[in-house]
Amino acid sequence: MTAALELAQALRAGDRRALAKAITLVESTRVEERELAEELLASIAGPAVLSFRVGVTGVPGAGKSTLIDVLGCHALAAGSRVAVLAVDPSSRQSGGSVLGDKTRMTRLSAEPGAFIRPSPTLGVLGGIAGRTQEVILLCEAAGYDLIFVETVGVGQSEERVANMVDCVLLLLLSGAGDEVSSMKRGVLEAADLIAFNKADAERALAAQADAASLRASLSISRGSRVPPVLVLSALADTGVDQLLAELTSFGAAARADGTFERRRSAQRRAWFDSALEEGLRELFTRRPDLALARAAAADSVANGAISASEAARRLLAELLPAVRR
Ligand code: GDP
Repeated sequence: MTAALELAQALRAGDRRALAKAITLVESTRVEERELAEELLASIAGPAVLSFRVGVTGVPGAGKSTLIDVLGCHALAAGSRVAVLAVDPSSRQSGGSVLGDKTRMTRLSAEPGAFIRPSPTLGVLGGIAGRTQEVILLCEAAGYDLIFVETVGVGQSEERVANMVDCVLLLLLSGAGDEVSSMKRGVLEAADLIAFNKADAERALAAQADAASLRASLSISRGSRVPPVLVLSALADTGVDQLLAELTSFGAAARADGTFERRRSAQRRAWFDSALEEGLRELFTRRPDLALARAAAADSVANGAISASEAARRLLAELLPAVRR
């Protein structure tokens, strides 16, 4: 049996160390490991568990980790197996990490039924799209049926996360009305569920008022598609059960009316498109002859000898016979 098949078998048996190893493998940018990763992914393809993927987004400090910790424990108690993945766009630019340097999700990480991937660069490693989707598939092959993908609220990463989950949960801070009104429209529009966190005892009423005013403004911008707006305290564990119930009913309704499968199908199509583009781009860096040809063509374009579009067309024609026809 090949190494990839052995790993796939251990993974399917729910071995957490095998899962961690598999994730490291698919995150690797080394060509040899990529081949092994492709073999592994091919061997786990096919129907896995019926999973539900939830993106959790919100500004740093909104309480995402605290919420996932307690929400994950509730979900475990209700019979789910929970995996948490973090997407942290900051780590690449700054070398530091917003998500990686604090003790996170202590309760959930002590649970044998939960898997938490602390990898702070997940999803941005080498700028390669699709790795997070692959990691999700690995978790599902290992039997995790509720996948949380956590992201720091900074625009671009949110959009990407929205394109790989079944449901986007936006966590807001109560008492931060300005923050909501200045929030990028897209972030609010992409949310399937919204929750105001930190509505602890004395702030509960103010949070209810925040929720009511957001509901009112969303009913203007989104008409009949107003997402549920909840109020909770992750720290005090109030309202979290209701959130889990809302998530569950969102998933059930989406499966029943077909939006669930349509969304996944559109995501797979988009994933294919980006994988194809990525592959083409990669060819021009990985193959020395193509890299040289590309650099030469770029020089000709730069000094005005040939137009950019003509140079690109010629280079592609060299690469793909079909283009010449
Ligand atoms: P993240 O950056 O969105 O993951 O936020 P964290 O989960 O790390 O929480 C940021 C801070 O807010 C921590 O000190 C938490 O203890 C605190 N926090 C989280 N949820 C609540 C809550 O419901 N009430 C209060 N008072 N504090 C909270």
